[in-house]
Amino acid sequence: IISTKAEVMEKAKEANVKFIRLQFTDILGVLKNVAIPVDQLEKALDGELMFDGSSIHGFARIEESDMYLRPDPKTFAVFPWRPRDGAVARLMCDIYNPDGTPYIGCPRNTLKRVMAEAEELGYTMQVGPELEFFLFHIDENGYPSLKTHDRAGYFDLTPIDMGEDARRNMVLTLEEMGFEIEASHHEVAPGQHEIDFKYSDALDIADKIVTFKFVVRTIAQRHGLHATFMPKPVFGINGSGMHMNQSLFKEGQNAFFDPESPLQLSQEACNYIGGLLKHARAISAISNPTVNSYKRLVPGYEAPVYLAWSGRNRSPLIRIPAKRGMSTRVELRNPDPSCNPYLAIAACLKAGLDGIKTGITPPPPCDRNIYEMTKTEREEFGIGSLPGSLEEALAELAADDVVKDALGPHIFSKYVEAKTTEWEQYRVQVHHWEIEEYLTRF
Ligand code: GLN
Ligand code: MG
Ligand code: MG
Ligand code: MG
Repeated sequence: IISTKAEVMEKAKEANVKFIRLQFTDILGVLKNVAIPVDQLEKALDGELMFDGSSIHGFARIEESDMYLRPDPKTFAVFPWRPRDGAVARLMCDIYNPDGTPYIGCPRNTLKRVMAEAEELGYTMQVGPELEFFLFHIDENGYPSLKTHDRAGYFDLTPIDMGEDARRNMVLTLEEMGFEIEASHHEVAPGQHEIDFKYSDALDIADKIVTFKFVVRTIAQRHGLHATFMPKPVFGINGSGMHMNQSLFKEGQNAFFDPESPLQLSQEACNYIGGLLKHARAISAISNPTVNSYKRLVPGYEAPVYLAWSGRNRSPLIRIPAKRGMSTRVELRNPDPSCNPYLAIAACLKAGLDGIKTGITPPPPCDRNIYEMTKTEREEFGIGSLPGSLEEALAELAADDVVKDALGPHIFSKYVEAKTTEWEQYRVQVHHWEIEEYLTRF
């Protein structure tokens, strides 16, 4: 692992790097970058490169738009699909103000701030995401379609799985960029895939999620396919989730594991679950950030709807995978890959820490299939549900001080502003379904 300026300089020389992409995300999680020739690298690593942030979503106003990029040496990676002679490498950056303080609109800084809060209590958060995506064909005009020739399903293999070559290339590319890929497979829906990589600390994983989406889309394109992380591209089949496995480590040990307790889950693990459940509705506004996200969170497609947890079945929001010891973790199943991973992880961590700090006891685990329970039964067990729309989620976010705190006031207000506009634009549209339903009936 590269961790100093000198190491980056050396590595860049060794790999014959000609261009460096300085990368960061806006508040919506969209990856941005500026390319510099390698002779500017030293200046960049000293944090001396300025850019105009006024056009970046959620960043500053025009009159205070000068910002500085501070690359993180640990994120140095060469793009394997670009020429090797005069190679291209990237560095993820934090955004700083001209006076040298961290910029409050920077999602990466935001996650670091919440991680520091965890560290004060002795915890580091470990995250293992499972990203799902669709591969669609590109039409004769070069535009992405909703067509997939593949009729494959869960764990199928060639010749039905047409994305296999693309997926293989994605895995190899990610590995070259420092990912430890644990598994890749066809998912349940036609054209749907999943690639899993090894868990790591929160910041590393947020960087990796952003990189992953970018690499998968790039490689798909080179195979004549369009990769999409849109949560529910096709009605009637499964959508794409980004399950988030999470745990806290303390002094190098997994703080969620307690061999003595009945489920072998520690008090901290239970409180963390309690915190996640308490704040889940507000977190949704961050972890399920689009209008389309809520089309995925409906019964019948292996996506969660109800606020419950279980050590056994997969219908609730939180599942505890069977592994224990260092692998003890909680799997939060509602996040989808359209979210800003820095903010989504920050929100989860903040909620979990709230659970620990205030000693929130979760309701007893629900080992029944919640989808088969009646509304009255669910009420008896005190099982609520996730928001049904982006609008509902935004209202929950506005009412939750803990999750708001994770974002900080600047990102909170910019985020809500952007998302409210998105909801309003959607709300006034006349959708295909309405035409089908009403045009001839009235
Ligand atoms: N695609 C499902 C979701 O939306 C998950 C399916 C699975 O991984 N078992 O979350
Ligand atoms: Mg999986
Ligand atoms: Mg899956
Ligand atoms: Mg999973």
